[in-house]
Amino acid sequence: MCGIVGIFNLPEASKLAYLSLYALQHRGQESCGIMTSDGAKVHSYKAMGLVSDNFSEATFAHLSGGNAIGHVRYSTSGTSDIKNAQPFVVNFSGGQLAVAHNGNLTNAQTLRKELEEKGAIFQSTMDTEVIMHLIARSPKKDLMDKIIDACSKILGAYSLVFLTKDALIAVRDPKGFRPLVIGKKDGGYVVASETCALDLVDAQFTKEVEAGEAILFNKLGTFTRSLTPHEVPGTSRAHCIFEHIYFARPDSHIFGSDVYEMRKGFGKQLAKEHPIEADIVIPVPDSGVAAAIGYAEESGIPFQMGLIRNHYVGRTFIEPEQAIRHFGVKIKLNPIRELLKGKKVVVVDDSIVRGTTCMKIVKMLREKGGAKEVHMRISSPPICWPCFYGIDTPTRGELIAAQKSVEEIREFITADTLGFLSIKGLRWFKKQNSEEEYCDACFTGNYTVDLPDSPEIAAMALGQK
Ligand code: AMP
Repeated sequence: MCGIVGIFNLPEASKLAYLSLYALQHRGQESCGIMTSDGAKVHSYKAMGLVSDNFSEATFAHLSGGNAIGHVRYSTSGTSDIKNAQPFVVNFSGGQLAVAHNGNLTNAQTLRKELEEKGAIFQSTMDTEVIMHLIARSPKKDLMDKIIDACSKILGAYSLVFLTKDALIAVRDPKGFRPLVIGKKDGGYVVASETCALDLVDAQFTKEVEAGEAILFNKLGTFTRSLTPHEVPGTSRAHCIFEHIYFARPDSHIFGSDVYEMRKGFGKQLAKEHPIEADIVIPVPDSGVAAAIGYAEESGIPFQMGLIRNHYVGRTFIEPEQAIRHFGVKIKLNPIRELLKGKKVVVVDDSIVRGTTCMKIVKMLREKGGAKEVHMRISSPPICWPCFYGIDTPTRGELIAAQKSVEEIREFITADTLGFLSIKGLRWFKKQNSEEEYCDACFTGNYTVDLPDSPEIAAMALGQK
């Protein structure tokens, strides 16, 4: 997961990129970076950590020009290291080219091996660098043709923004796994992972970059091309449903729907599928809030904030070390005893991955909160398969739902009852809300794009069909 932004033809492009990244900080906290171009040259600044900690007036003085791209990183492939921070810039025969990438390629290792055998030297462990090598090696003359040529060789999820000395290019993979939206502002353009970034910089949302679409912004205008020669962009989509369940900000509008409304709808559906007699419905903040409101509305059980979150702790799951994550639940959440004592409590969260967060929360609600009964409700189906398209999920062995039945998970997390949203419920609900098609491989193992780098999982997923 990552957040990306592109600014074209706007004064103070670097500051607009910075503000946009600020709004996209939830998409990654490991590193951040901005590159700008001023018609002659690309300027760069990258650092480890949060956007708010890393930019100063001195940094902006160096980032001149009316065009920019930016990136916040959350590593899914490649290590957490400044060498892997983005944007990533190269010098090739066509001049300077910078890129920021959100997503994950499923054939990056295979391609990398082939390229290394042909003499290519890599500076990082990111799959994004493979794209840059393919562009540099493309026999096509024009940069857009080179990019389209490179995209014909890569598989998987990629929302990309490229920057040259005088142009911006936005690209979205043929399935449109990750979001990418465009806004207009004062004769210029803002491209971003989510609409919450457009809102902050007062850009007017115009459209999403379509699945399989490449758009060039330069001084002559905007020019659209299709990545798939025989298909109109947007015809075979597989948007990541997990963006709606967990990842995107609830105030964003992505894949044709409002994230908040989708989450609330998942909660309502969950209440229909798993009703229970209880005194209060509480969310696991912040990820379970909208679904808990939906659950409370549908069930008629009062909504309360029974757990309070410390907002100065980052998203615990983002920390790559297991030890920190375990500690994180306690440091992050605290129950309100006066609300919970002696009560039958429904707790709503968006997902169970390893099951450790849930187990600690149930324990906390009983031991510290004094809850009489704890009924866990999850606004997504059990995650049984790893994601290869850009969400950081652990191996199948670490996914609790791949190893245990719902009853065994209930026992592990020590809840009185446990209910997950069904796959049928999830599919029904998303069909009601938009025409868009979604990828739900993490629940079903239905991987819509081939997995050349992960043949074992691909075979296992095929075997279960
Ligand atoms: P776990 O303890 O592994 O079951 O963690 C589950 C919690 O992590 C849930 O509360 C989710 O909100 C959150 N979560 C689920 N998927 C992700 C992800 N890919 N990145 C960060 N957090 C996640």
